[in-house]
Amino acid sequence: MKKQLLEKYAKLIINVGINPNKGQKLVISCPVDCAEFGRLCLSAAYDAGCGEVIMNWSDDYCGRETYLKADAEVFESFPTWRKQFFDDLAAEGAARLSIYASDPENLKGVDPKRISSYQKASGKALENFRMLQMKNAFPWCVVSVPIDSWAKKVFADKEENEAVEALWNAILKTVRIDEENDPVQLWKEHIALLTERKNKLNSYKFKYLKYKNSLGTDLTVELPEGHYWEAASEKAGTGQIFVPNLPTEEIFTAPKFDGVNGVICASKPLVLDGNVIENIRFVLKDGKITEAYADTAVDVLRNAIAVDEGAAYLGEVALVPYDSPISNTGILFYNTLFDENASCHFAFGDSYPTIEGGNEMSAEELKAAGLNSSMTHEDFMVGTADLSIVGVTGNGTEIEIFKNGNFAF
Ligand code: ZN
Ligand code: ZN
Repeated sequence: MKKQLLEKYAKLIINVGINPNKGQKLVISCPVDCAEFGRLCLSAAYDAGCGEVIMNWSDDYCGRETYLKADAEVFESFPTWRKQFFDDLAAEGAARLSIYASDPENLKGVDPKRISSYQKASGKALENFRMLQMKNAFPWCVVSVPIDSWAKKVFADKEENEAVEALWNAILKTVRIDEENDPVQLWKEHIALLTERKNKLNSYKFKYLKYKNSLGTDLTVELPEGHYWEAASEKAGTGQIFVPNLPTEEIFTAPKFDGVNGVICASKPLVLDGNVIENIRFVLKDGKITEAYADTAVDVLRNAIAVDEGAAYLGEVALVPYDSPISNTGILFYNTLFDENASCHFAFGDSYPTIEGGNEMSAEELKAAGLNSSMTHEDFMVGTADLSIVGVTGNGTEIEIFKNGNFAF
């Protein structure tokens, strides 16, 4: 990929995704395979006024080898020094950029117990950090760049180099970058459009959403009183407007955690903990996933919804039209950042505090208001070309929100 385009992308990520304050610290989590792009982001961050940029490197190979070969007790605790790394920087209001790129099947064959032990240990240790992030105490942004293994999974019929190039082209398209354009202006327009639709949803103050499609989804989702829909850009506790995901096409809120009933069928595979999970089906009663099925890696799925009490409840309801730019590429990305923005989705696990006054509420107050809490948060995709969503307002009026997979208004 041309360096000029990569620099444009890095600049967009820093200036629109993070939008750092003068002197703000930034932590960049980056796989070693994406080092070149990580360096461009670091450089763009200094140009944008960051005071210090701290690189937090990771590596698929080392991660897998550790899961396969390390002593079992390694996965049962989370070192204090590592917890400190997250907590101290969060307390300083350091921004966080995550460049996410991984082989979708990196942990295939790893004992799922090791994965869930480590999730429990790290989830517990990073509880405070996670809460600060969910409340946007500091700006944060998740983006992606291709690596060989992931590109080969997406474009299985192409040679490695061609696959990487094809994935680059697809990603740059989803983030609205080409050689000629001014992506910052395009993003302004895109954010304005999502905001307009979000405001419309907010004006209805829906009490329930009813989902139906031919895959078998038949679900009623209660929304908590005082909920609001959120989209695209958010305001950080450190003052600036930032965009948590590039790309982003979703408008989302939180369900009432104990008010979801029926059946949900996933419409795309989910890459979860280094495994590809196909054809997820959940049965929910009073918000709890009481039955979970999948055609592959079902044990990984069942472990994921059992990491804690809240993992088996939903924490996000998100609307994305079937005809959206990412969906229309026709590419299955095997990467939630892209696949969730190509499809209506839910998440199991933690809720963002999308309720009036939510950012000031304690964990207990949020729970009492009907918002789920968990150490995990995993989006899974449910949108189809025939999905219908009907909203029911407080006085029982029914409003068509989605017809044939797209917004009805
Ligand atoms: Zn989402
Ligand atoms: Zn989510």
